[in-house]
Amino acid sequence: MDERKERAPRDGTRAPLVAAVSLTPVQEAYGRITAHALRCDDCRDVDQHCDVAEQLWLTYQALTDGAFRRLEG
Ligand SMILES: [Zn+2]
Repeated sequence: MDERKERAPRDGTRAPLVAAVSLTPVQEAYGRITAHALRCDDCRDVDQHCDVAEQLWLTYQALTDGAFRRLEG
């Protein structure tokens, strides 16, 4: 009976889970794309074009290409 149990706050809320790791630049770039797309009306409309999303995607691709070039040596 030594197990410790975290108690949920009485109001039913829970503390947010915080990652204790750092992401790679490629992962951070992809995260910026998804974070933007979730709150952008143009990104959610298939008939619209979003310049911000396009720029984020180009940045992501450039970082990915650079990572692959480093792996290839
Ligand atoms: Zn957008």
